[in-house]
Amino acid sequence: MPGLSIAIVGAGIGGLTAALTFARQGHSVTLIERRTGFSEVGAGLQLSPNASRILIRLGLAPALRRVVTAPERVLVRGIASGRPIGEIALGAYMQQRYGAPYWVVHRADLQTILLDAVRSEASIRIMTGRKVETVRDAPDQAELVWTSSNGSRESLTADVVIGADGVWSRVRHAIGDTSLPTFHGYVAWRATVERKFVPQELAGNETGLWLGAKGHVVHYPIFSGNLVNVVAIERAREPADGWSAPGRAEDLLAHYGGAAPALRELLGKPREWLRWSLFRHPIKNLARGRIALLGDAAHPVLPFLAQGAALAIEDAATLGSLLEGGPQDVAQALAAYERHRFERVTRIQAEGRRNGRIYHSGALVAFGRDKIMRWIGPERMSNRYDWIYGFRTPE
Ligand SMILES: Cc1cc2nc3c(=O)[nH]c(=O)nc-3n(C[C@H](O)[C@H](O)[C@H](O)COP(=O)(O)OP(=O)(O)OC[C@H]3O[C@@H](n4cnc5c(N)ncnc54)[C@H](O)[C@@H]3O)c2cc1C
Repeated sequence: MPGLSIAIVGAGIGGLTAALTFARQGHSVTLIERRTGFSEVGAGLQLSPNASRILIRLGLAPALRRVVTAPERVLVRGIASGRPIGEIALGAYMQQRYGAPYWVVHRADLQTILLDAVRSEASIRIMTGRKVETVRDAPDQAELVWTSSNGSRESLTADVVIGADGVWSRVRHAIGDTSLPTFHGYVAWRATVERKFVPQELAGNETGLWLGAKGHVVHYPIFSGNLVNVVAIERAREPADGWSAPGRAEDLLAHYGGAAPALRELLGKPREWLRWSLFRHPIKNLARGRIALLGDAAHPVLPFLAQGAALAIEDAATLGSLLEGGPQDVAQALAAYERHRFERVTRIQAEGRRNGRIYHSGALVAFGRDKIMRWIGPERMSNRYDWIYGFRTPE
């Protein structure tokens, strides 16, 4: 059966994974990206087993293994006291329980690996410097209109249009949702530090998670273990100016004035910080007619469960599975995609918000939280998320 023509708007992690998945199934893909180049922010990404399993199935394991690290555990500490609160088992435990690894990776490394694989597929056409303005559904084909970097307007028709165009999605309008995202009340500070400059006690092969009422901090080794990725979450009334604005270390250190000495030392190391304002958008529809959304366009989540990119990868695999063989009725296949994904992504979105409340609880609640974490132990802390990490693509 001849494959479908599929247009994907946005070449982030979700769009690239979808393009590769569709091409492997014999569809012809046009990937349309607003940016003119493919630089990625210098930051890390955790790839839990639900995502790594899919990337491995796409044949990316040899390339990924050269650049990822697999932390042995998450060590949870109190920000002010610096004392350990609990542990979450990763490493060998995750591999054995879920049959896939828990990796951490530099975003640029993952993007390069996906892009290399996409570029090696003859059935994928990549068009950069094109900002999609409108998408229109019709019974026989959908139509996209974009503006090129030289200002000209062009259009394309396709059997399927996938909106992988991030939290400020334009494609979302085409499925009847024109509401805009709103500020979530958090700004994420992100930076990397050469591992040799990181305080010894924080430089091991593990993820550090520090919890406090005014925010939390996460760090882990990336870039084959040569860099440490640091993310510090700050509760804020206003978003930072622009998407990924520069931040001053003095301001961050003032916010974390009461932090334990080793953490303050770590936060003082990066030469530059970028601040990302976190936005929310309620999940309404994932598909209509010949148009579907994936990743942040469909369901932005707080990064407090490290599942945003993982969900985009799952979405791509699910769409791939439902469109396999070039279905007779595209709209039906996309409606099935929405049914498969809706409950899961809604639950993960809510769980991310819940984690925010738990991570940032005040002294009294934190006392109970810490007791429970100690009592639960590392393996059961991981097992709480069996429903996330054990994900399988529908057959
Ligand atoms: C601090 C922080 C830490 C995180 N940590 C993790 C983690 O550890 N693990 C994890 O799984 N997730 C994590 N995430 C979430 C993850 O980064 C995102 O969920 C994921 O990158 C979303 O990918 P995407 O492809 O859906 O969208 P995006 O990466 O936003 O890509 C959208 C693409 O579409 C393009 N585009 C937009 N509009 C148009 C248009 N009109 N026309 C053409 N192109 C367009 C954009 O240029 C962009 O390239 C984190 C997020 C933050 C902020």
